[in-house]
Amino acid sequence: MDNYPKYKMGQWIKEWREHEAHNLTFIVTEDCNLRCKYCYVTHKADNARMKFDTAKKFIDYIFDIKTPDQHAVVLDFIGGEPMLEVELIDQICDYFKYKAFLLNDEWYWNYRISICTNGINYDSKEVQNFIYKNYLKLKVNFIVHIMYLDPIFPQLLLYPPHPFPLEIL
Ligand code: SF4
Repeated sequence: MDNYPKYKMGQWIKEWREHEAHNLTFIVTEDCNLRCKYCYVTHKADNARMKFDTAKKFIDYIFDIKTPDQHAVVLDFIGGEPMLEVELIDQICDYFKYKAFLLNDEWYWNYRISICTNGINYDSKEVQNFIYKNYLKLKVNFIVHIMYLDPIFPQLLLYPPHPFPLEIL
């Protein structure tokens, strides 16, 4: 662990400050619990989910080709509705952390998780467990594309406050 950069309290590495972190995007499912008219996923299917083995091979490949100037990374999960596959996301994140630790790679410290979700199952036990597990260690962004949702799913806007912050962009 001696080759890790030294941090001072309140300091961010340059990649976070200047939005230069690398982005690994996982399309974990093509299914969704909504059917928005404007949706770009026109071929939704509940059996179209990423296999854990595929994600694992992708992570192995990325670590194989990673160069020393790549200091930070965002694990980006999209769909369809990625939170339908939160257990798979959890498995992928665990594997990423395990691999980075084994390789003594700085990404073990310098990673974030981004999930672009419609928020429908935000209250589920599985999603809350995932947030709880990752919340204190890293910044979890929930990007809810709520812009056109209210006429379609008005109750989403009436959800009570949550124990964890929900970031709406
Ligand atoms: S929530 Fe997103 S993925 Fe689901 S139907 Fe709407 S636009 Fe498509």
